[in-house]
Amino acid sequence: AKELKGGAVVFQPEVHATTPVRLSVLGDLRRALDSDDELFLNYQPKVTLDGERIEGMEALLRWQHPVQGLIPPGDFILVAEGTGIILRLTERVLDLALAQQRRWMDGGTAVPVAVNLSTRCLLDASLPDLVQRLLAEHGVPAHLLRLEVTESAVMGDAARCMDVLQRLHDLGVHLSIDDFGTGYSSMAYLRRLPVDELKIDRSFVMGMTTTPQDLVLVRTAVDLGHNLGLTVVAEGVESVEHVATLRELGCDIAQGYHYGRPMAADRMTELLVRMGT
Ligand code: C2E
Ligand code: CA
Ligand code: CA
Ligand code: CA
Repeated sequence: AKELKGGAVVFQPEVHATTPVRLSVLGDLRRALDSDDELFLNYQPKVTLDGERIEGMEALLRWQHPVQGLIPPGDFILVAEGTGIILRLTERVLDLALAQQRRWMDGGTAVPVAVNLSTRCLLDASLPDLVQRLLAEHGVPAHLLRLEVTESAVMGDAARCMDVLQRLHDLGVHLSIDDFGTGYSSMAYLRRLPVDELKIDRSFVMGMTTTPQDLVLVRTAVDLGHNLGLTVVAEGVESVEHVATLRELGCDIAQGYHYGRPMAADRMTELLVRMGT
C-alpha cells in the first residue's frame, strides 16, 4: 500500500513471485523483446449497444514463452513495471498495434485501436514524442489510436501525469479512463482530465445483474460519464442479461466475451468485415 497526500491510501497489487522468479522473468522478457515472435497482440472488439457495430478495439499483450507457454499479462506486466523494461514493452506494443492498424486502414476496415499504458509510462515526459514518432512512422492518424490509463495511475502523481496526458491529447490521441470504479477517484480530477472515454471495470459489470450495489455503481458511472460528456464503455459483458441491463442504463459501448474474446488480428479482420464498422 502506498500513502498519498492527504492520507488516502491506494493498495497496489502485490507481486507474488519470489525474487529468483522475478529475475528470471525479467531476463526472459529482455530476450523476448529481442526476438520478434514471442510478444504479440490479441484484439478484442468494442461494440455499440444500439445497433451492434464495431466501434473500436483493445489491443492486449500476449507472451508466448518458449518453455512456459503462453504467459498472461497479469504475470509479467507488474514485474516489468518495477523496472524500465515497461517502457520498451510499451514501445513494442504501440509499434505492433500501429503496424496492424495501418493494415486495417489499407483494407478499409480501420476503427480506433486502444493500447494500455502503465502508470510508469505516464511519468515519462518522453512518451508523447514517442507516440508522435510511431504514428508518423506508420502513417496512422492520431484519432485512430486510443490510450487507456487506470484512474489510480493518474491519481498517484496527478500533476506530472496531467502534463503527459495533455500533450497526448493535444496530438489528437483519444484517452480512456480504464477500470473505473476500482481506484480512488475524485470527481474534481475526473472533470479536469483531458479524457474522452470512461470504462467501467468488469467486476461491477459482472456483478450488476446479481448484486444491487454493483448495479448502483454501474448506473452512477454511466450518468457521471455522460454528465462529463464522456463515452461510457462497460467491460466484462458476458451475457444477454448484461447487454439488456446496459441498454436500459443508457451505456454506449460494450466489450466482453459476449461479443468476442481477445483474438488474433486475422480473426479480427474477419469480424470487422462481418459485423461492419
Ligand atoms: P484490462 O486493461 O482491464 O483488459 C481487459 C481484460 O479483461 C483482458 O484480460 C481481457 O481478456 C479480459 N476480458 C475481456 N472481456 C472479458 C469478459 O467478458 N470476461 C472476463 N472474465 N474477462 C474479460 P488480459 O488480456 O488477461 O489482460 C489483463 C490486464 O493486463 C489488462 O486489463 C491490462 O491491465 C494488462 N495489459 C494487457 N495488455 C497490456 C499492455 O499492452 N500494456 C499494459 N501496460 N498492460 C496490459
Ligand atoms: Ca484496458
Ligand atoms: Ca479494464
Ligand atoms: Ca482490469
